[in-house]
Amino acid sequence: MLIHGQCHCGNIGFDLTWEPDPVSIPARACGCSFCTKHGGVWTSHRAATLHVHVADRTLVSHYVFGTRTAEFHTCSRCGIVPAVTSTIDDRVYAVVNVNAFEGVAPSLLQRTSVSFDGEGTDSRLARRKRNWIAHVELSDGHTEPRVR
Ligand SMILES: [Zn+2]
Repeated sequence: MLIHGQCHCGNIGFDLTWEPDPVSIPARACGCSFCTKHGGVWTSHRAATLHVHVADRTLVSHYVFGTRTAEFHTCSRCGIVPAVTSTIDDRVYAVVNVNAFEGVAPSLLQRTSVSFDGEGTDSRLARRKRNWIAHVELSDGHTEPRVR
């Protein structure tokens, strides 16, 4: 399944290739302070391939907070956050915002609430390595080194 998503104005877009076709797509409403304020609902599939493309890179904010291990790719024109990345051992992992999906049937989304408050940084990074999208291409002009 090829899933396209983008921010509201279209500046930040992504293409997510999810094989085999998902029977359901986990949609995790994150309880952290940022996601609560943004209504961030995230998904990932370890074996999926994600390509994030940006039209105007001067209109992208890479917001970090807390443990500073995740970058929220935020469109500074429309305020939407289509993707989050985390660079672990020189590899970029990502989750995408299901609210930025275009044309995906809502019935495919299996919504849950999650809270990672109190999780230590090491276990947080280990969880991302296990669960986040592990094949990520960023065409956003952002140069190494990323956060961390
Ligand atoms: Zn935008």
